[in-house]
Amino acid sequence: MTPISFDNSYGRLSERFYSRIKTNYVSRPQLIRFNQELAADLGIDAEWLTSKKGIGMLSGNLMPSGSDPLASVYAGHQFGHYVPRLGDGRTMLVGEVMTEQCERYDVQLKGSGPTPYSRGGDGRSPLGPVLREYIVSEAMHELDIPTTRALGAVLTGDKVMREKELPGAILTRVARSHIRVGTHQYFAAYGDLESLANLSEYVIDRHYPEVKDSDEHVLSMLESVIAKQADLIASWQLVGFVHGVMNTDNMLLSGETIDYGPCAFIDGYNEHAVYSSIDRGGRYAYRNQPGVCHWNLGCLAQSLLPILVKGKEGASEDLEDTLNLFPDLYLKFYINRARPKFGFVSKEKDDLSLVEDWFKILGDEKDDFTLAFRRLSDISGNDDAADNVADLFEFSAEYQNWISRWEDRCSREDISLKERQTLMYSVNPIYIPRNHIVERVIDSATENDDYGPFNDFVDVLSSPYTYRSEFVNYARPPKDEEIVTKTFCGT
Ligand code: AMP
Ligand code: MG
Repeated sequence: MTPISFDNSYGRLSERFYSRIKTNYVSRPQLIRFNQELAADLGIDAEWLTSKKGIGMLSGNLMPSGSDPLASVYAGHQFGHYVPRLGDGRTMLVGEVMTEQCERYDVQLKGSGPTPYSRGGDGRSPLGPVLREYIVSEAMHELDIPTTRALGAVLTGDKVMREKELPGAILTRVARSHIRVGTHQYFAAYGDLESLANLSEYVIDRHYPEVKDSDEHVLSMLESVIAKQADLIASWQLVGFVHGVMNTDNMLLSGETIDYGPCAFIDGYNEHAVYSSIDRGGRYAYRNQPGVCHWNLGCLAQSLLPILVKGKEGASEDLEDTLNLFPDLYLKFYINRARPKFGFVSKEKDDLSLVEDWFKILGDEKDDFTLAFRRLSDISGNDDAADNVADLFEFSAEYQNWISRWEDRCSREDISLKERQTLMYSVNPIYIPRNHIVERVIDSATENDDYGPFNDFVDVLSSPYTYRSEFVNYARPPKDEEIVTKTFCGT
């Protein structure tokens, strides 16, 4: 068996899309963890991946035959300000692999050293952000939220200089592709319409082949991207995920979550939650995420204007109409994803106001996002089972009215109590990557070279919906002194 076989379609595009690069050597690569399940899905031989040669690839020291190392170029709006040229400044594409089901994935190294797009940065990553991305991206995957994945993490043996000297590390990231809103913005801003059109054709072939035969296939692609993103953000909102840096270069056309920099899950609910230390104005606060997504999609629509089939007048109206689909689509996905969290299988028109009133109380009480949903799942059955979170969370009197309304709503459902509870437990996680634990396991690794807590945490998060009493500490909200209010980009 070939240990890993590549088929590099992005590298077959013109050289305006990327720079071919030479890899940078690191001094003492050492495997921290690899993702056996993902390797198997990608048809990568696990024994090879953990061998000297495999670790050579994960550290960028040794490119397997068939790989095509390159750094891609893109632009982007960062906190609303347009930067005409960003690009992979600390990542490199090793190549693309195909699964048995013929699904194509990028294998990319993050933290692998400088590229032509490093803009003065060192191209490296400290250990902390690598572990954070490993933990959170894999947790998102287990929560059924589209995301880039982590195939492996290695220490480089080199130090990186930040506010202090830190161990350097590299994450191997796997994604359906790394094409961003900002990739389109780059070509549109330079007026390179040939590349822009080629890029759209490429995106359609790779992600939306079903729109290929449509008369207005670029517009249809935009509509598909809008739907994917609306659904993605709805799923973030319903687990309390705050991305933290929703710049247009961090939004993928494939609809996967990317870039786990200053992200965090909400503990005590607050719709204004912001964790990123660089987001002083709260642009990317929890409640703003759907609106920002819409704004970013507007940037994408604007970039596509020059390559639409119709004359300019009609085209811009078409684009606007398509863009205006977002709010309704978002609401539709949001409520459809919310219903099972409350145990509803049927649809009623007042469901949205019931959901909004729930969040209103949650916010007033500053109650734990995850545990509140989990406790609601507990009390949805007739026997308050022993495996419940009553010790961690109980509803205050403020919920009484709301719970009566909810029970009333449930009584109109045609499912048994058991079925309702099973449904609720299947969509309301008990284990999420709580920020204080993320920080703690990163500290153990960085300060004490102890990776046990990191490995245990990743293992616990691999079954987020199954209560296990021995892991109760992972379900606990932070104590006051443990609350993490700020996360850093880690660049
Ligand atoms: P991010 O905030 O991760 O989305 O990165 C924004 C841009 O900064 C991208 O073009 C990155 O490649 C670049 N960048 C971030 N960190 C570094 C670094 N340490 N060295 C070089 N470029 C970087
Ligand atoms: Mg980025």
